[in-house]
Amino acid sequence: MSGGEPLLRRDLAEIVASAHRAGVYTQLVTSGVGLTADRLGALLDAGLNSVQLSLQDARRPGSDLIAGRVSYDDKERAAGVIRAARAPFGPNVVLHRRDLDNLPEIIEVGARWGADRIELANAQFHGWALHNRAALMPTGGQLDRAKATVAAWRERHERPELVWVMPDHHEGVPKPCMGGWGARSITVGPDRTALPCPAAYGITDLAFPNVRDEPLARIWSDPAAFDAYRGTDWMTGPCRECPRREADFGGCRCQAHALTGDAARTDPACALSPDHHLVRRRGRARTPVRLPPPRRPPLTRSGPPARVAGRRRCGAACPAARPCGAPTAGGDRQAVRPAASAAVYSSSIRTTSRPARSSRLAAIEAR
Ligand code: SF4
Repeated sequence: MSGGEPLLRRDLAEIVASAHRAGVYTQLVTSGVGLTADRLGALLDAGLNSVQLSLQDARRPGSDLIAGRVSYDDKERAAGVIRAARAPFGPNVVLHRRDLDNLPEIIEVGARWGADRIELANAQFHGWALHNRAALMPTGGQLDRAKATVAAWRERHERPELVWVMPDHHEGVPKPCMGGWGARSITVGPDRTALPCPAAYGITDLAFPNVRDEPLARIWSDPAAFDAYRGTDWMTGPCRECPRREADFGGCRCQAHALTGDAARTDPACALSPDHHLVRRRGRARTPVRLPPPRRPPLTRSGPPARVAGRRRCGAACPAARPCGAPTAGGDRQAVRPAASAAVYSSSIRTTSRPARSSRLAAIEAR
């Protein structure tokens, strides 16, 4: 149960219960903002198997800076809620140039929070990460040090388990993304579009089916989407003759599309790809980039805000009992309908004033 923020779904427990009845292992992947003991209890009662908590850095300033929102304390509190419920749990941390050197501290935080495992996910450079690559692409030295940190931890500790994979752009060896296109995974998006991979929305020249229109069994063999890059028959270029084609299935289709505009090309992360220079060139990007500062939640903790004129108040089932459509921010939007919250979120980023932005950023970076 991923996102965005799945806690925004008021029917999340129903979705979990439905998946549980179908024999599906369910994991909540959440920012932790707004995760209460009651909400978690309802999800566990519905059959939730485990929780993954997103963490952006080991310390408050770095985490808040990358999250774009003052949220570190909320995450720490959520970790306590999850531990108290004795749910299997682990943070997931997206690693990039700004937090990779803090890896030893990140692991310590995970251990202190009582994690069973920590997923250390190196940023993949498509989507927003591609746009922001100049700020996020790690150096080779950073990756080598991180690899050594992980190895040293594994040697000395059994828990938490560390999940770590070197990024393919660094090694020149692509990964079998999602275990191969259409091989074992279906993602159902919030608009009920069925995709072989959560990032496949970006492949705009494919028409993906919708679970409202077709049963999953038919979607699984959809010739225009799920069959498009399944197996090896679609391959061209170096992949067609390569002995690794059954092992990595040509790498990531979304990355190939993002970097070359053609999802059928060999993943540029592969050293054998004719487009590999695109990854190398991007890897050398060193332009210093300043990130926008984190935003403070506009709501106080002392209680729900006053009613917003003209807006519908949530029903009794709403955990935060806030007015729907109220201008909340970041992951703290449980009571806001998803469409409204997305609009509010993006507009609030754009409207942060420059003077406020630079002074708050300076304060955070000084800390
Ligand atoms: S050429 Fe294709 S199959 Fe061979 S390693 Fe590269 S991506 Fe994998």
